[in-house]
Amino acid sequence: MTDNKAILSDYILRRRYRRLQPLAALVDMDGTLYDSMDNHATAWELMCKEAGLSVSHDEFFLYEGMTGAQTIDLLMQRCFNRHATQDECEKLYHRKTEIFKTLPEVKPMEGAKDLTEIMKEVGMRRVLVTGSGQSSLLGRLDKDFPDVFDKGMRVTSRDVTHGKPHPEPFIRGMQLADVTPSQAIAIDNAPLGVKSAATAGAFTIGVVTGPVPRAELEAAGAAIVYDSMRECADAFPQLLYDMLTLTL
Ligand code: MG
Repeated sequence: MTDNKAILSDYILRRRYRRLQPLAALVDMDGTLYDSMDNHATAWELMCKEAGLSVSHDEFFLYEGMTGAQTIDLLMQRCFNRHATQDECEKLYHRKTEIFKTLPEVKPMEGAKDLTEIMKEVGMRRVLVTGSGQSSLLGRLDKDFPDVFDKGMRVTSRDVTHGKPHPEPFIRGMQLADVTPSQAIAIDNAPLGVKSAATAGAFTIGVVTGPVPRAELEAAGAAIVYDSMRECADAFPQLLYDMLTLTL
């Protein structure tokens, strides 16, 4: 059993917040709501092989959260010692999404729906904050997570200049929810996503759902880490209660 009270009071003192008000939830998509990261890594790997870029499958778990264009630029610099052109970014990302669509259908992460239902029930404002711009998964949200993320409450790669780990995506999310950092809880499975949310000032929950170990999420700034979305969903009501009743 996690000692929420110790974590929360330490966090508030460190941040110099007066208190935490869990008014809004800022939720990542890939690897958090959907068990999609392995497919993404495979699609990246296959696209890169076609394009003559030498990569490994697992390195894409570390780039998770960056926009497609940022990832392509990083690989171009490493492999060819130059920046990617905008045309290359568009073509190669398009190819990656084409390959992604041919892979077996991804499933929602176990526990993710329960977590979003709790957020709804307690009246939290909910914003999707993803580095993705892939319509294949974004289009499924309404079916798999009905009435969770209103159309105007989604930050995707198309809405930001800087992707994660820059704080811009989560700052945008707070603006959409009309909350301050001490009123926002962020949930993300990737080190770059956690860094983005923590830098934006949200109370950041890291969730281990793939090969990235919890220590990396803690190092990236997660205030608390759960070992699965199921564990996160089960622990969430108590965490909210402890936030609301905390006295320093
Ligand atoms: Mg993710």
